[in-house]
Amino acid sequence: MIMKGKKGIILGIANKKSIAYGIAKACQEQGAEMAITFLNERFERKLTPIAEDLECGARFYPCDVSKPEEIKALKDSIEKDMGQIDFIVHSIAFAPKEGLGGRFVDIPKNAFDIAMDISVYSLIEVVRELKPVLSDNSSVLTLSYFGGVKYVPNYNLMGVAKAALEMTVRYLAEDLGKDGIRVNAVSAGPIKTLAAAGIGDFSFLLKWNAAHAPLKKNVTIHEVGKSGMYLLSDLSSAVTGEVHYVDNGFNIMGLPAVDFDEKGKATIAWNGTDKI
Ligand code: NAP
Repeated sequence: MIMKGKKGIILGIANKKSIAYGIAKACQEQGAEMAITFLNERFERKLTPIAEDLECGARFYPCDVSKPEEIKALKDSIEKDMGQIDFIVHSIAFAPKEGLGGRFVDIPKNAFDIAMDISVYSLIEVVRELKPVLSDNSSVLTLSYFGGVKYVPNYNLMGVAKAALEMTVRYLAEDLGKDGIRVNAVSAGPIKTLAAAGIGDFSFLLKWNAAHAPLKKNVTIHEVGKSGMYLLSDLSSAVTGEVHYVDNGFNIMGLPAVDFDEKGKATIAWNGTDKI
């Protein structure tokens, strides 16, 4: 039981398809005790069965990261119900629709500000406010995507947010290392979730990744969950400031793998029958 004796909070479960749910299940299976958060009353009702499934008991708290008072209240609830915690999972992102398709140059300033606030600044704020309840051997994990490093069609504004998030991970890791707090990110391959549904023609990304990743498939939330759990556990006690890809190897590819004809000339064969 790798997580036996560890306590933590998971922000960003919307339903059982959420990456945060995959991480929570992996932690639960390895003996962790967890709290989860919900965005508002509507999600409280939807998430109640998930809180029961994860054996959260009363450790089920409201937290909209755009409301600083809710993050402060979260710290008080954790202190009261759990004392100290050993890990935080920040699996939260949001960008208005006009930032996730169309011409990049047309992104409005208010959409940019919202995406950076919810998807990036919230990590800094959550960690700062919860720092008093973090144990001196604790781990913080956030979620990123390849579109923060290279161009990905339609990822647009979220690509800029993920680039900022990955840099935030490095600066936080340096700053908090002296307090015994590690900060890492998992960069997950594309997965069909609620958040992903906002990205224009997301099914194209899924097909492209499965066709071109070395392992020739897409990742599941449970695969991301296991790797996330490793970064939350003492197995990764010397790892901080890292962006760890869990994407079936897609990020290592410079060009798509192709077949060659008898003359040694590359033919366009996208590994299978899908014409993409
Ligand atoms: P998801 O299930 O929709 O999770 C996104 C979560 O963010 C939801 O629980 C959502 O809450 C929460 N959220 C949005 N605004 C919030 C706010 N103001 N306060 C608190 N919570 C808020 O989608 P997901 O794909 O698992 O996304 C989790 C993370 O993984 C995100 O950072 C995403 O960018 C990243 N990621 C996703 C993929 C992918 O392909 N799916 C790949 C790599 C990285 P509500 O639903 O209650 O609004």
